[in-house]
Amino acid sequence: MNLTVWVELTYLVSAVLFVVGLKRMQSPATARNGNALAASAMLLAIIATLVDIDVLGWTDILIGVTAGAVIGSLSARLVQMTAMPQMVGIFNGSGGGASAVVAGAEFVRINQAAAESLDLFGGVTIGISMLIGAVTLSGSLVAFAKLQGLMTGNPVVFPLQKVVSALIFLAILVCGVLVAVGGGVAGLSPLATFVLFSALALALGVLLVIPIGGADMPVVISLLNSYSGVAASAAGFVVGNMVLILSGALVGAAGLILTMIMCRAMNRSLGNVIFGAFGGDQGAAALATGEKKTARSVDAEQAALLLAYAQNVIIVPGYGLAVAQAQHELRKAMDLLEERGVNVRYAIHPVAGRMPGHMNVLLAEADVSYDKLFDLDEINDDFSRTDVVVVVGANDVVNPEARNPQSIIAGMPILDVDMARNVIVVKRSLSPGFAGIDNPLFYLDNSMMFFADARQAMTDLVKEIREA
Ligand code: NDP
Repeated sequence: MNLTVWVELTYLVSAVLFVVGLKRMQSPATARNGNALAASAMLLAIIATLVDIDVLGWTDILIGVTAGAVIGSLSARLVQMTAMPQMVGIFNGSGGGASAVVAGAEFVRINQAAAESLDLFGGVTIGISMLIGAVTLSGSLVAFAKLQGLMTGNPVVFPLQKVVSALIFLAILVCGVLVAVGGGVAGLSPLATFVLFSALALALGVLLVIPIGGADMPVVISLLNSYSGVAASAAGFVVGNMVLILSGALVGAAGLILTMIMCRAMNRSLGNVIFGAFGGDQGAAALATGEKKTARSVDAEQAALLLAYAQNVIIVPGYGLAVAQAQHELRKAMDLLEERGVNVRYAIHPVAGRMPGHMNVLLAEADVSYDKLFDLDEINDDFSRTDVVVVVGANDVVNPEARNPQSIIAGMPILDVDMARNVIVVKRSLSPGFAGIDNPLFYLDNSMMFFADARQAMTDLVKEIREA
């Protein structure tokens, strides 16, 4: 068999592994394996491509693979779970940047080749790859800066912002069309017009992401992830690489589906996330206008007694559990309850935390068995028959305000914990969560606030349950 056949066969194996890997990511039990399969597929595809185009020797390939593996493993090990959206953001930006570089290099190559000129197909695919790649790169860098606290997390808005963005988009289209037909803007060479086109695309990426509130960033990250896939797919057309077209299309489609799932779970439209300039200080306003109410508080001893003598307990984990890294202590406390014969289950809201599957990953890390985890639809009817619900660092996902048609979270599906006989809410204060609105749950007669850092609270609970 000649080299081309081997390369094509390797691409086929990679493509199959991508699809199988993606399929296995559907369940937490198989997700790690799916991830490993997809990563191996990418490694195979990269090596096959490098061997095929014969620009690097095996030593260079090994150096590149080792450097990538070191950076990847260090990031995965050192980055905190709560900083995962930033890391994904940077990775998306790198993907977008790589596609833009491929498009740029191909444009320059064709521009300088005496015997070759840009045809319409080449012009369009290079243009799309550069446009989406550059928007993804600069947009992801802004998203990273917002999530990492390097710039304000609030929406950055200025007068006529949407008009400026629309004009830049128009200018990009004009430059793009001129470049694709081999011309240039007013006296500029095709190369200079292409550089202008790329710079405008970078500016557009910044302008699209700065007006979005910091807390909305995970949705934007997921959307940018989808863009990076589309850019990679376009880059695949640019260089005529089937496996890049396919893997990019898979990432693009998966990212878009994920974005839509997250929007639906939050009962928000994508347009509202992108153009709504939602977030910022609406929470403070909502709290300020709220009437004066009092919340009942409990300490670890009282909470432990209530739990130790319950029959059915449901845990509702949220973003605060991830911040406090309280999952291990939580599991210890629940193990103790189970030893006493209490039936303990976990209710998982689809948008609890700050990334899809955040709670599943956290609980899996603490070895909580999957069969104790229940989705919203599976468990919501059971709250009314539950003795004690412990809400650990969750807020919006249990906010009964979602049933109020006037509320900004109106219609968002919530876990009906207020229906339970007793609700213990573990958090540090009465502050709002992501949506920035007060939570009437805290003031209900069947609710008790356990004011503490979730990890400390769970550690104290373990001690008190042992003594109960
Ligand atoms: P929330 O953001 O509503 O609330 C988290 C709560 O955790 C806060 O009220 C905070 O209260 C508490 N908290 C923070 N740190 C600690 C700590 N160390 N110990 C104890 N408590 C702590 O989280 P939810 O999980 O309920 O809801 C997720 C929200 O994020 C939803 O609005 C969702 O729409 C949104 N979102 C989710 C995405 C996803 O993919 N999962 C994506 C985009 C948005 P206090 O400061 O008083 O301690």
